Amino acid sequence: MALQRCPGCRKKISESAKLCPHCAFSFAEADLEKYKAVLEQRRQHNAEINRKSVKLHLIWFVIFAVVIGVASWWQNGG
Ligand SMILES: [Zn+2]
Repeated sequence: MALQRCPGCRKKISESAKLCPHCAFSFAEADLEKYKAVLEQRRQHNAEINRKSVKLHLIWFVIFAVVIGVASWWQNGG
């Protein structure tokens, strides 16, 4: 009997099972489509978060550069 991993709870279950005995994840065609849609949504959400965090890092870098610049100007001028 072959085993497969349940996409819902990641426990090993029988490949012939139509329903996960641990989390009741359904392997019916319609439910798999739904599950793929959720995965795709999650992937896009993560990509969005990555884009935002890159922007945030850039902002922090600019602030850091300005602070360093002002500090060195302060020392030279003072
Ligand atoms: Zn499961």
